[in-house]
Amino acid sequence: MIKIISKNKEKISMVTDMSESLANAIRRFTLEIPILAIDEVEVYKNDSALYDEVLAHRLGLVPLVADKTIKERDKCNCAGKGCGKCSVNLKIQMKGPATVYSKDLKGGAEAVYEGIPITLLNEDQEVELVATARLGKGIDHSKYSPGLSYYRNLAKVEIDNQCDECKKCIEACPQKILGIEKGKAKIKDVYKCDLCEACVEACKKSNRNAIKVEKAPELMFFIESWGQIKAEEIFTRAIDQLNDTLKELSKSLK
Ligand code: SF4
Ligand code: SF4
Ligand SMILES: [Zn+2]
Repeated sequence: MIKIISKNKEKISMVTDMSESLANAIRRFTLEIPILAIDEVEVYKNDSALYDEVLAHRLGLVPLVADKTIKERDKCNCAGKGCGKCSVNLKIQMKGPATVYSKDLKGGAEAVYEGIPITLLNEDQEVELVATARLGKGIDHSKYSPGLSYYRNLAKVEIDNQCDECKKCIEACPQKILGIEKGKAKIKDVYKCDLCEACVEACKKSNRNAIKVEKAPELMFFIESWGQIKAEEIFTRAIDQLNDTLKELSKSLK
């Protein structure tokens, strides 16, 4: 069972009854999805205050989307040497005074977010470079990761009749998800509860024991995308990668 709690391009939250080991496998396989990132930079001119290496490192972390289909290098006909089918080139050529932003990368791919600052150029300072972007996997370098995926148990919050509406738990809850209803405290949005137990502590401090917070067997699974692919797609493509790996394993066993 999977129930989507909220979803947009950047983030998806789900409740699921899948086992923790399966959730962990899916989480790990998000790092097996091929993602485009700058892998090589040839610097012709760099008068900025940043060393060439730092500049290259910053460029590597810019999330990119390509306007054509790019092959993985080891699956390309060029046998890993690098060619137009498995890589794209991007250029920056700028003269100061200016801030060099991710949008100034011009070529076969573009930055997901235009306004990532790369470096600053003073009067007459120049930057000229050619960057090569390739597909890679987050398991090899975090610049290739499509986003962040994580999970935790769903919370089970029970409030019994010892509650005298003192509201101490409401003030203590960092998520602001407790309220009063029908004469006692009530949780308004259990999906936001991160099991911190601040409410339980607050209730105990006021000499009551009316609120109990436990882990429910279901899991909350979250994916936040860096923008290269949609959060929902990260989930489905991680499952595809996991499936492919299991098929390969079973084939080799046979
Ligand atoms: S702190 Fe305890 S007694 Fe006070 S409102 Fe919350 S659950 Fe009720
Ligand atoms: S466990 Fe934490 S987040 Fe959940 S209701 Fe209590 S105080 Fe709020
Ligand atoms: Zn190639």
